[in-house]
Amino acid sequence: MTHLYDDPTTFMEDALAGFLDLYPQYVTGVPGGVVRAQEPSEGKVAVVVGGGSGHYPAFCGVVGPGFADGAVVGNIFTSPSTLDAYHVGKAAASGGGGLLFSTGNYAGDVMNFDLAKERLEAEGIPTRNVYVTDDVASAPVEDAHKRRGIAGDFVVFKVAGAAADDGCDLDEVERLARKANDRTRTMGVGLDGCTMPGEDDKLFHVPAGKMGVGLGIHGEPGIAEEDLPRASELAELLVDRVLAEEPEGSTKRVGAILNGLGATKYEELFVVWTTVARLLRERGFTIVEPECGELVTSLDMAGISLTLVFLDDELEGYWTAPADTPAYRKGSVAGAKQSGPRRAELTEDDLKAEVSPGSEASKAAAAQVVTALEAMEKAIADAESDLAKMDSVAGDGDHGRGMVKGVTNALAAAKDAAQEGAGVAGLLGAAGDAWAGKAGGTSGVLWGAALRSGGESIGDVTGEVTPEMVAAAVRAAADRMSSLGKAEPGDKTMLDALLPFVDTLESEVSGGTSLADAWGKAAQVAVTKAQETADLTPKVGRARPLAERSVGTPDPGATSLAMCARVVGEALGG
Ligand code: ADP
Ligand code: MG
Repeated sequence: MTHLYDDPTTFMEDALAGFLDLYPQYVTGVPGGVVRAQEPSEGKVAVVVGGGSGHYPAFCGVVGPGFADGAVVGNIFTSPSTLDAYHVGKAAASGGGGLLFSTGNYAGDVMNFDLAKERLEAEGIPTRNVYVTDDVASAPVEDAHKRRGIAGDFVVFKVAGAAADDGCDLDEVERLARKANDRTRTMGVGLDGCTMPGEDDKLFHVPAGKMGVGLGIHGEPGIAEEDLPRASELAELLVDRVLAEEPEGSTKRVGAILNGLGATKYEELFVVWTTVARLLRERGFTIVEPECGELVTSLDMAGISLTLVFLDDELEGYWTAPADTPAYRKGSVAGAKQSGPRRAELTEDDLKAEVSPGSEASKAAAAQVVTALEAMEKAIADAESDLAKMDSVAGDGDHGRGMVKGVTNALAAAKDAAQEGAGVAGLLGAAGDAWAGKAGGTSGVLWGAALRSGGESIGDVTGEVTPEMVAAAVRAAADRMSSLGKAEPGDKTMLDALLPFVDTLESEVSGGTSLADAWGKAAQVAVTKAQETADLTPKVGRARPLAERSVGTPDPGATSLAMCARVVGEALGG
């Protein structure tokens, strides 16, 4: 049970406020997360870690000398937005040596941190992304790149952070982070589920006398259920599973973490550790500076995981290096070496990208976008409960709410941008950021990125925005959605409405049809194609595990997209 909260909907913000008040000597709040309290030294590479919250000390608890330079803080078990990652990355990278983002390998985090990387690079900040894949239970070894990141995050972040503080350049920090990830393996078991603040029930239950083997850290139950053994037998299972993947060229020196998931007592961990240590030594391993405790948690989940990092000389140096952070302190850090003067407070305005003021033609197009978003907001509000029902057939039922939040915030941001004189590119960028930042869910990230790409495609026009430019912008938006979400036509996603929409729009426009009429025709096609998704079986996204159940119901994302296309067409006068 998560017992204490004021308002469950602001739990993360409330917790972060307390954290910042406690540790001003270590951290400063910035939009989207936290950075070290001190300015970095000249030329220093910044290591920014992140992911959702609910995992403390991961991730904001390990910001400080010898470890991370910043942490992006998402909602509980939810990826931070692209804009959050961009803000924290930009604030942390003020040393000028470039930036390494590292998070666990989850679809939402990968999308958002990849997009943030792209934006930072466009502003001249060299950025690398390393996604941690230590969880041996989450995919077979042939598909190791698909594995999730769990407690091994700690190892990779520590090695990268220590290397950056040691003065390594960006190539070197990236190389070491990848090497640490390649040589780190984790196996875990869940003993009981966790409860989201404000909820009465756990996200999953493990029956008494059982354990979930292969736990996740977001309330994902284990992959297989087995009888709960004695502590020593559990230790053997963990050691066997991790050592089964001992990498080639192992030096037999390992760093180790026996991690508690949040509700497993330290004394229980110590009992398990006794056998873990004995088995490792019997099998010829030297254990180097092991950690036993809560390092990557999952709210109040009961469970335990064993992480081993197979060391070589350089990894061992960074694994054992001193660190000084709110949640993790080791040895003694020569503070002055890493730290400059205290940082000034940074706001979103300080961190935002330059937006050139729009020309008159560009502002006129921007006004049209506001009109289009108004029409979308109204239609989506009316359809909220239908979309929710559709998404609850095989998904998680949040599509209606997500779309309402996304489009409402996009419209508000678009109006603000218009007020400030933005052109169409700036306005669509601001609208997309607001959509992705507030909607939550896969569709929110994709819609947000698509709007921004559409804007970038049109760019800072000085002359009129032609129908060809609009068609090209929608194509750019669709391309962005495809490359980011990696769905194929027929996978039962919103692409199944969007791609036929763009095809029709392009061919009508190139045949000389007016924009309003071309859009209207394309929207009709989108509506039909969205309905036809009822026959399809989902191949990606949250509906995939319950794929069969979804047959007979149209895809919610395709349905809402077609609806938006239709009402925008009407607003354009088609
Ligand atoms: P979530 O699935 O994260 O709960 P939503 O419920 O808001 O997000 O949106 C679900 C919709 O998102 C699906 O109906 C589908 O149209 C779309 N979607 C999910 N994954 C993808 C993807 N990889 N590419 C394109 N669209 C996707
Ligand atoms: Mg959903």
